[in-house]
Amino acid sequence: MSPLPDNPDALYGDVIMDHYRSPRHRAPLPNADVEAEEFNPFCGDRATLQLRLGPTHGNAVSIQDVSALAEGCSIIQASASLLADNLQGRTVEQAADLSQLFRDLMQGKPLPSVALDELGDLEALEVVRQYPVRIKCALLPWVALEEGLRRLGRRSV
Ligand code: ZN
Repeated sequence: MSPLPDNPDALYGDVIMDHYRSPRHRAPLPNADVEAEEFNPFCGDRATLQLRLGPTHGNAVSIQDVSALAEGCSIIQASASLLADNLQGRTVEQAADLSQLFRDLMQGKPLPSVALDELGDLEALEVVRQYPVRIKCALLPWVALEEGLRRLGRRSV
């Protein structure tokens, strides 16, 4: 296993370090429709995700606002910020699809170029695969998203 970098700047790259240093969408949403929190006791990471839903177009429910608050290492903070950035303006269904694509990326599955286009700057997190214990950190905000979407699905049934 690769050692964990003490100074990850050079190893993780500009996109990750930018989101780590200036995380986006951290402010809590006062009237969230969906909320989920995940905790990783192994490294003390915590991710809290909130969504505020917008108007429904046909069967599609849009995501109007996202808040992703992460505490812990640089990777979970960067991942939460990138997640929030990328959910803005998507529908709930597109968010679920994106989450699956991101899992595939982190698990090293070969992805077609159309999937990589869809992932956009999230692809920067692929570097984390070189530090296997950190993969969980990158995924934790997405686990919170999936839990939130599950609760939403149950509620609307
Ligand atoms: Zn971590």
